[in-house]
Amino acid sequence: MRLEEMYQELGISRKVLEFGLEIEKELKGRFDAVDETAEYNQMKVIGAMQKARVSDIHFAATTGYGYNDLGRDVLEEVYARAFHGEAALVRPQLISGTHALHVALSGNLRPGDELLSPVGKPYDTLEEVIGIRDSAGSLKEYGVVYRQVDLLADGSFDYEGIKKAVNERTKLVTIQRSKGYATRPTLSVKQIGELIAFIKRIKPDVICMVDNCYGEFVERTEPTDVGADMIVGSLIKNPGGGLAPIGGYIVGQKDCIDRASYRLSAPGLGKEVGASLGLNQSFFQGLFLAPTVVAGALKGAIFAANIYERLGFLVVPDGKESRHDIIQAVTLGTQEAVVAFCQGIQAAAPVDSFVTPEPWDMPGYDAPVVMAAGAFVQGSSIELSADAPIKEPYAVYFQGGLTWYHAKLGILMSLQKLMDAGIPCKM
Ligand SMILES: *Cc1c(COP(=O)(O)O)cnc(C)c1O
Repeated sequence: MRLEEMYQELGISRKVLEFGLEIEKELKGRFDAVDETAEYNQMKVIGAMQKARVSDIHFAATTGYGYNDLGRDVLEEVYARAFHGEAALVRPQLISGTHALHVALSGNLRPGDELLSPVGKPYDTLEEVIGIRDSAGSLKEYGVVYRQVDLLADGSFDYEGIKKAVNERTKLVTIQRSKGYATRPTLSVKQIGELIAFIKRIKPDVICMVDNCYGEFVERTEPTDVGADMIVGSLIKNPGGGLAPIGGYIVGQKDCIDRASYRLSAPGLGKEVGASLGLNQSFFQGLFLAPTVVAGALKGAIFAANIYERLGFLVVPDGKESRHDIIQAVTLGTQEAVVAFCQGIQAAAPVDSFVTPEPWDMPGYDAPVVMAAGAFVQGSSIELSADAPIKEPYAVYFQGGLTWYHAKLGILMSLQKLMDAGIPCKM
């Protein structure tokens, strides 16, 4: 069977395939640059593993308290080395990105302290962590005051506003790298470095934390290379490489990591406890694969941007821009279109391809969300996935793909479903 027939058998019409192949041909130079970054980051990860002397004994399981879990301690050393921090907390007990961010924030903030976001509203789930939306157990309930300075209309930093907002109680600054569920641009590592330098000039002892979700291995440097005191992320996104079945990480200054560890386990216990339950091998191996997995996801994002831009939709980032995370936003404008898009992503999946995603009220989100995820790991968004809050401007956020070929199929299928639903697409 020819490749074209293989696609047809999976449900992609000839018209959609030809349109996709034409776009793909134009992207060769972009894809080569993505591969070069992956090669650089692959060397970074292998170097970290060699320096930490990773060995197969580190894949052994521990249970119970997890005292002397060698694999866990070496895994944390590898993360610290790969991301150029002094220390790391990398645990299956960090349930998700939101949990890791909560542990980093609540471990390092005390009653009366102020938390500042100089990049506008943070990711939806953090609104309840911080107490922007009232929530039991929020930082607000513990007496932490939150301030926010929005980005300027052109997406740049409001340096004047930030200078006014920093005061003697400002203890921690949280900087979200990725756009999350917003249509603002994602920040580059360089921009994050400039922002941190500006803030540290005003107040040198402030802790600068970066929500690094979806940004790992997209560039050659990470925010820890440009002054961040802590970076935080999820292992079911980029750094888990698709193999980590759970987990989160915090990398940075030793005192920040120690304080976070006392919040994760208990004061006095910190990093010394926490069994790895046999997950270490998938954490090591996932990190090892992460640079190339991220490259596949990036190619998918670039492909999607160019396809939907050509069809006349607003895409962020646009088809030409440089990339700082693996997320692609496409504003489709109607509920029918975002649902059809997500149904296409689902239909292309290796797992649960036969189910039809519908919008539902998810915990932590303020509008119904439709999600497509035919994933090996539940909710994993380094795997090909798409989600869209059912609210204006009806944008879908698309990310992941453990392989470029799967990402390509998913994007072609999303277009196929839009056409099948009769949504106007001028090819
Ligand atoms: C995904 C994400 C989070 C939260 O991570 P979960 O693992 O879904 O809890 C936080 N911030 C950003 C920018 C994210 O993309």
